[in-house]
Amino acid sequence: EREARRLDERTQGSRAFYERARRSLAGGVASSYQTRDPWPIYLERGKGARVWDVDGNELIDFHNGFGSMVQGHAHPTITKAVNARIELGTHFAAPTEDAIVVGEELARRWGLPKWRYVNSGSEATMDAIRIARAATGRDTIVKIFGSYHGHHDYVMVSIGVEYDRIGDRFDLASLPYGLGIPRAVAEMTVAVPFNDAEAMERRIERLIEEGRAPACVIMEAAMMNLGVVLPEPGYLEAVREITRRHGILLIFDEVKTGLCIAAGGAVERFGVRPDLVTLAKALGGGLPSGAIGGTEEAFELVEAGKVVQVGTYNGNPLSMAAARANLLEVLTPAAYAHLDTLNDRLMQGCQAVIEKFSFPGYAVGVGSKGCVTFSPERISDYASFKANQDAELCELAWLYNMNRGIFMTPGREEEWTLSITHTFAECDRFVAVFEELAHDLTA
Ligand code: PLP
Repeated sequence: EREARRLDERTQGSRAFYERARRSLAGGVASSYQTRDPWPIYLERGKGARVWDVDGNELIDFHNGFGSMVQGHAHPTITKAVNARIELGTHFAAPTEDAIVVGEELARRWGLPKWRYVNSGSEATMDAIRIARAATGRDTIVKIFGSYHGHHDYVMVSIGVEYDRIGDRFDLASLPYGLGIPRAVAEMTVAVPFNDAEAMERRIERLIEEGRAPACVIMEAAMMNLGVVLPEPGYLEAVREITRRHGILLIFDEVKTGLCIAAGGAVERFGVRPDLVTLAKALGGGLPSGAIGGTEEAFELVEAGKVVQVGTYNGNPLSMAAARANLLEVLTPAAYAHLDTLNDRLMQGCQAVIEKFSFPGYAVGVGSKGCVTFSPERISDYASFKANQDAELCELAWLYNMNRGIFMTPGREEEWTLSITHTFAECDRFVAVFEELAHDLTA
């Protein structure tokens, strides 16, 4: 309560904005994921690894726009590229050279020859699923229990709270997430637990017996919405083998992992190549962007014009100019080596605090992403996350951070994202605040 009161006092400007915003914006925000009780923190500007809120509080940014800003805020190279493009016209709905350069670079990084663009992660997963359905002539899709792949109906299924109601009966898992998702659509999406290839195969075999062979498995190679959950050794290889054997397309949703954990995302990091990948977030260096990459076979019907993959703003020149500068000049292999070093420092610092104070949790991460689990038990999937994570402690840590100049993603599901502009000193500051929390809790 003391920490909540302290934050309230420091964010009265945000409170005033919220009261004004509520009159015109539903819930006072642009997107439901921006809400927060009692009011959201309204930001004014960002530079490098820092952001400033409307009350003038300076914060070290570990939220980074849900991982979109891995290059840091207002990066001069990207700003320059975007400014140059603005002068030349920002939208034609016709292709530009930058779109070709970006496609060539993505093909090289992911080892997948064909690409298309969209404007968000949701559009990327929606179109990838359509491509998979067309390529296989099948309707059912398989996702991972608890995973988030965007806000369209196909994947707004078996994500969160419903698990509390149904216990661990995964077979009942085709549950719409929130209202307005047609039951009939939700039922075409079947969820299986992460890190359990056997359970996935059993479920797939049952679906085949029922005449519902799946078109695709859509998954993150490392789950990024339960903090960070890494794939266990052999799991991704087993999923690749199972999907191939059953003629199911494997989609790696790399909207979060893509440009955050290696130059070539999870495919490079874990060495397993899917049939399709989806990118968004960090691709456009802070501009709306997204991409779908795939094999020649997966894209055959798109190229034949039989799968409609369209969008007025697809390949928007401004986003493409930003993505080109981002990929070719900013998020270079050296940048990823630097992110690994920073993240090691942050994780090791947090782990040392955990051990010193017997704090309930462990530090885990990959590339620019990581978290403290707030659970001493190993988290390997949604069930273990839900059963073991201390949500109250997680919320308290967020308040501690905010009151001490650390901007983190609100909500217990989120991880930190480092940017290439973070310094060791900024990582150490995060650890120092975490240590203060651990100390106060055990004092
Ligand atoms: N896929 C994953 C793995 C995500 O984390 C998200 C967003 O958080 C999406 C898809 C949806 O992306 P967007 O919010 O750009 O639609």
